[in-house]
Amino acid sequence: MFVIGCHLSASKGYLHMGEEAKSIGANTFQFFTRNPRGFSAKPFDAADAQAFVQFAAENGIPVILAHAPYTLNACSADEKIRQMAHEIMADDLARLAHFPSAYYNFHPGSHVQQGVAVGTAYIVELLNAILQPGQTTTVLLETMAGKGSEIGRSFEELRTIIDGTAHSERLGVCLDTCHVYDAGYDIVGHLDDVLAEFDRVIGLDRLKAVHLNDKTPFPSHKDRHEKIGAGSLGLDAIGAIINHPALRDLPFYLETPNELDGYAREIALLKSMRTDR
Ligand code: FE
Ligand code: FE
Ligand code: ZN
Repeated sequence: MFVIGCHLSASKGYLHMGEEAKSIGANTFQFFTRNPRGFSAKPFDAADAQAFVQFAAENGIPVILAHAPYTLNACSADEKIRQMAHEIMADDLARLAHFPSAYYNFHPGSHVQQGVAVGTAYIVELLNAILQPGQTTTVLLETMAGKGSEIGRSFEELRTIIDGTAHSERLGVCLDTCHVYDAGYDIVGHLDDVLAEFDRVIGLDRLKAVHLNDKTPFPSHKDRHEKIGAGSLGLDAIGAIINHPALRDLPFYLETPNELDGYAREIALLKSMRTDR
């Protein structure tokens, strides 16, 4: 089954996002757990969550993807900001426990002047404090473009985080096509080789979701998403990605610069490009 959706606004609640996804031909979606550039969150609405769970079961939405706020930085040099990351992540995971099948994606963090080793150690410290056996939600490290001092620009950096994490059975990876291409992995010319490298370094069993974005231009570490087919990946590469045997059964999420009608068109286009349609 092709599991495809896009990023939606959470401002009107979970059920509304489910209905919106359905209306644009999606069977999954991503949303921010709270203000992406701050930390504030609406109070959790358990009735709305329950209504969504029922809607998802009736309408074939197999999984959803929550995205942590951009301002969360697990490896800040400032202890208060690291503590905030801990509180936010714990609260987000408590909310997500109301859903039978959810992933929680976060940007590993920016080490600023501290270096990758120190930054990585802080991220591991947070995950070891947060991840519990029996937790329903799998936490995903997003592959990053390497803007500034972002950790997660290489598969090796993600491997180091996973290796340090005790309950790594609750930890996976979300591959962002814009970011990995930006970071220098040539998924246009050598998709098989990049995925073989992912398998060798991290293991494809860790790969749980794909952020499907085009980008401009390669490689820049600038992290600029582009509409499907309008960027430097292009339609052929995107067709190869959504049909690749190692990826095709994963959920795909568009984070392209679009309103709802644009997302509906991209989802229809991608469906027409699937070899199992
Ligand atoms: Fe992201
Ligand atoms: Fe992304
Ligand atoms: Zn991005």
